Amino acid sequence: MVTAHPDDVDFGSGGTVAAFTSAGLDVTYCIVTNGDAGGSDRTASRADMAALRQDEQRAAAAVVGVSDVRFLGHPDGMVQATPELRRDISRVIRQVRPERVLTQSPERNWDFIFASHPDHLATGEAAVCAVYPDARNPFAHPELLEDEGLEPWSVAELWIMAPGEGSAHVAVDTTATVERKVAALMCHKSQLGDPDAVAQRVFSMSQAQGDLAGLPEGSSAELFRVTRIP
Ligand SMILES: [Zn+2]
Repeated sequence: MVTAHPDDVDFGSGGTVAAFTSAGLDVTYCIVTNGDAGGSDRTASRADMAALRQDEQRAAAAVVGVSDVRFLGHPDGMVQATPELRRDISRVIRQVRPERVLTQSPERNWDFIFASHPDHLATGEAAVCAVYPDARNPFAHPELLEDEGLEPWSVAELWIMAPGEGSAHVAVDTTATVERKVAALMCHKSQLGDPDAVAQRVFSMSQAQGDLAGLPEGSSAELFRVTRIP
């Protein structure tokens, strides 16, 4: 899971992560920033906020069965799809060797602009570039191979979270895991003005996606666009 900020993975795909770990899959979180530009407490130092948000993310990960949480430390609010970020994500891909990478959409959603924070767009773009071609190309970021001994790795599936209307290919049924998704979200205390309202919004959005996917009434789902890469 490659996302920009602490809490993105929980909002975008916490139910899917819980479904994956329940099925016995190993999941790693790769989070590009420490979230130091988040929250509304102007008295907190930004360093304290970064530490707090990392702790919140680790706690949220534990709720959905994830213990491997890695932070890349790029500046919150200023993420760009630079060669350095592509290299940093490629490094994690070569270390973890995943079958599947999930990330945020690099395309702006004009119907729901909160999904398209510039950091999300840049993270999605850099992650897509890391999956193809960087991580699999021995001549991309040669220091990864030469200095760190990280062999190229080809990721077989790329999943884009919250794709725009009409472009979702895969619905993950999260009916059995949406409660855990909400419990994970509740760990991000520094980001939640009204936790009950957030929980209600997540339940109703999950059911709307279940309807969109044609699941039985009352089901929850999360939608993805999936690209298989030979
Ligand atoms: Zn975010």
